[in-house]
Amino acid sequence: MTKYDILKRYFGYDCFRPGQEAVIDMILQGRDVMAVMPTGAGKSVCYQVPALLLSGITLVISPLISLMKDQVQALNQAGIHAAYINSSLSETQIAKALQLAAGGQYKIIYVAPERLETAGFLRFAMHAEISMLTVDEAHCISQWGQDFRPSYLKIVSFINQLETRPIISAFTATATKKVKEDIVCVLGLQKPGVFVTGFDRQNLYFGVEATRKKDAYILDYVQAHRDASGIIYCATRKNVDMLYELLQLHGISVTRYHAGLTNEMRQQNQEDFIYDVCLVMVATNAFGMGIDKSNVRYVLHYNMPQSLENYYQEAGRAGRDAEPSECILLYSAQDVIINRYLIEHKDIKEDGIDTADGQSQAAHMRDEERLQMMHNYCLTTDCLRQYLLRYFGETQLTDCGNCSNCQQEYEAVDVTAAAVKIIACIRQMHQRYGIHVVAGTLAGANRAKLREYHVSEYEAYASLSEMPEAEIVQIITHLQVEQILQATPDRYALLKLGPKAGAVLDGSYPVIYKRRYAAKPDADSINHQAKKSSRSKLDSLDSQGIILFEKLRELRAQIAREEKMPPYIIFADKSLVDMCSKTPLAKEQMLQVNGVGEYKYQKYGERFLMVIREFVNK
Ligand code: ADP
Ligand code: ZN
Repeated sequence: MTKYDILKRYFGYDCFRPGQEAVIDMILQGRDVMAVMPTGAGKSVCYQVPALLLSGITLVISPLISLMKDQVQALNQAGIHAAYINSSLSETQIAKALQLAAGGQYKIIYVAPERLETAGFLRFAMHAEISMLTVDEAHCISQWGQDFRPSYLKIVSFINQLETRPIISAFTATATKKVKEDIVCVLGLQKPGVFVTGFDRQNLYFGVEATRKKDAYILDYVQAHRDASGIIYCATRKNVDMLYELLQLHGISVTRYHAGLTNEMRQQNQEDFIYDVCLVMVATNAFGMGIDKSNVRYVLHYNMPQSLENYYQEAGRAGRDAEPSECILLYSAQDVIINRYLIEHKDIKEDGIDTADGQSQAAHMRDEERLQMMHNYCLTTDCLRQYLLRYFGETQLTDCGNCSNCQQEYEAVDVTAAAVKIIACIRQMHQRYGIHVVAGTLAGANRAKLREYHVSEYEAYASLSEMPEAEIVQIITHLQVEQILQATPDRYALLKLGPKAGAVLDGSYPVIYKRRYAAKPDADSINHQAKKSSRSKLDSLDSQGIILFEKLRELRAQIAREEKMPPYIIFADKSLVDMCSKTPLAKEQMLQVNGVGEYKYQKYGERFLMVIREFVNK
């Protein structure tokens, strides 16, 4: 069988996604690889397809117990023999699994890194033919990353104990230079093929909404998307509980997740969400690690997260099935204050790594910088996707047309003259004040606080009095985004001149600012538009198609209950929609449907065909 046969037969896909094929080819040539691909890009296929073509077993090291179970379920569903070995199993179960593994039962075995050192596992590994060792979430091996796991270091000594060195493939979604170096170096990859797949997720719409009426926005949005599954992230447990109650009060099918709930409740709520028993999940960032629910249509952020890394990871849980989905961040200036507080009170002893004082101060500065970049994302009037990609080290030259800034009308205004006055004001004030004092001074405002600072004595006082103060604030913000100004990374946020201030002063750097043109569309039209894009996959169907879709969805739910599997593991929505538009009546036609492979056909094909035939006959 070729890799294409495997992709079609077991996974039901017609073609590889960008990047997948190159990784697979390299592995099949016997080379080590490191692949950096964003969440949802399809990393699993990159090692699962070669695993089936290599002669021996592939071990997959993964830190997440929940993820292992999900993956193994999905593989078994596809007719691939796979198992997992971790602490969720009893000793007897583990012994049994190892016995079957030694007997050659499994092509793919997921293991937790701690397990590698145990005598039982080592005994098995020494006598088995291990063709490949795959390290998932490989960034966990780096002390530079946010999720360092000491147990990942055990992988290296494990490899050294094996008689024949297997191919090593490492996968991660974290792309910073240090982390990449660590993965290659610490894991001891030998002349690895390195692949970095674009971080762009084209099916995701990115939006920032500056609104003080966040509750109303969320409620409207969720009500306008009643049939869709979505996640709403909040910064605090309190907000989670509040929103949860609000949505519940309005009859939304909602559940919640945060560290204040008991283990059982968290487990139950998570399952309710995964199994589509509850469509909406309100959660803190404790939720989501290892969640591979493919039909999440939107991710809303009630609060701004602490970094773009966090934001992109959380938002990236939308649209893993590549269908159009939306990621909208609700922003208010208050969020910056909350986050600064959280950063300052962060427990620095994470994962038992002792952080010396010097180190923790450096870490603190890094956190502040990350927060600043996150904040700028909320303020920029440039294309949001460009901003994100630039942050992750990629350049995209054209505006995307699919973010809230691209869809907003702006007029470009040359504000160089105002910028020069702003810089002059900050200089006269010896860079000792924050944005509101500076803006108030330039506008010539007469507030008690300003009088207290005697700002009217500065030459710059009222030098921009023809402009509304709010607009001065916006221009100053823009100057920060452009690094003409910088705010000190502490809670005072004092304005200082940035690296590009000189160029503005000597006239070599004109400052162009995009001012919102029309008034922002009101919430109704936003919802309308959002609704359109998130329903678009159903839009491709006519009314008959939608009726059939509902019938197929019912059948899928029934099978899901029978087999105790999440519905999307049986068939993705996309597959059901494709069935509705192709209305296959026989096996051959059914195999043309996206996501229907030979094995899944054997299991479910006939039942779905029956429903379709019955529908067509009527
Ligand atoms: P990652 O681990 O990179 O976050 P996954 O491996 O979970 O991503 O894949 C994300 C989704 O994309 C899954 O639903 C998977 O089935 C789907 N997928 C992967 N490869 C393909 C492909 N070649 N064609 C269509 N869908 C794919
Ligand atoms: Zn854009």
